[in-house]
Amino acid sequence: STQILLASRPTGWPSPENFTTTTTELAELAPGEVRVRNEFVSVDPYMRGRMNDSRSYVAPYALGERITGGAVGRVIASADGTLAEGTLVLHQHGWSDTIQAPAATFSALPEVPGVPSSLHLHILGMTGMTAYVGLTAIAQLREGETVFVSGAAGAVGTATGQLAKLLGAGRVIGSAGSPEKVALLTQKYGYDAAFDYKDGDVAGQLAAAAPEGIDVFFDNVGGDHLEAALAAFNDGGRAALCGAISAYNATEAPAGPRNLTNLITRGLRLEGFTLGHYLHLAGEFRERVTPWFAEGRIAYDETVVDGIENTVEAFLGMMRGQNTGKMLVRI
Ligand code: NDP
Repeated sequence: STQILLASRPTGWPSPENFTTTTTELAELAPGEVRVRNEFVSVDPYMRGRMNDSRSYVAPYALGERITGGAVGRVIASADGTLAEGTLVLHQHGWSDTIQAPAATFSALPEVPGVPSSLHLHILGMTGMTAYVGLTAIAQLREGETVFVSGAAGAVGTATGQLAKLLGAGRVIGSAGSPEKVALLTQKYGYDAAFDYKDGDVAGQLAAAAPEGIDVFFDNVGGDHLEAALAAFNDGGRAALCGAISAYNATEAPAGPRNLTNLITRGLRLEGFTLGHYLHLAGEFRERVTPWFAEGRIAYDETVVDGIENTVEAFLGMMRGQNTGKMLVRI
């Protein structure tokens, strides 16, 4: 089994030296264990936070520990009655090509013809559900409202624009970091307007795209995007604070929004969330979103990097914006 461990804690941007790759022989299966060959391994922004030794909603990775996180694979050997050889499974064992562990740490996935297993790591899984929960339980999106999504061309963002429309939003606006991504937002992902934040003046570009203001903000980026949204909000606006990727590799504390008093004068509500606290909505998410997906009403992209040995490159590439939709490592 080849796996990737955290070797040292990055300061600012991680580099390959912060990780080690090890290859070990797997032991005989113990009773109750299964061996899983991964098909796809996920690289996610929250992993950057876990590389720091600081308080967060999940414990930091220990030095010398495998980078754990979402992956899908297939059982290739089983010493457990509940998971037969050949079963497709989702798990949190992370950056490894093959994994051996108690069967209870894997969950069997339904196999739907025409649905690639990778989708359980994005549109039909964690990132799709994050978009759904943020729009519904957190922002309480109402029919006809105008929605702004930052980081709109990534895994969560591509799902968010489309789900907003399917949930009844009026106008949906997105921001992303290249002209190609901006074009995709309106051509493929149902956004009514989009802009490139790297052109600068995020507040000005948002105001131009939303002349009648915004009602809901789904924030993946933080910083200047949050300040721009606070300026654009209509009275009674709500923000689902999902992520703040603009700060994840920063070495200095980012400047806070300078217009927080708009919360008072416009009666705004900002609410942060992490999906782990909303897993009770998994059934509702599946019931509502799976039919839309089956009807072909939800498009998706994935940027795939091959080989477990290239996982760190994939992770860093995702943080730099090399992905459209979900960044994945194919084993
Ligand atoms: P993405 O697929 O969106 O990949 C990250 C993207 O972030 C990059 O493609 C890049 O796109 C963009 N980006 C990087 N740096 C900056 C920057 N300085 N300013 C603006 N954009 C930047 O990742 P995910 O969809 O997995 O995650 C998106 C966000 O959602 C993250 O903030 C993540 O932490 C959060 N998240 C939160 C969850 C929760 O439970 N609260 C669950 C899952 C994700 P570009 O080319 O446009 O710059």
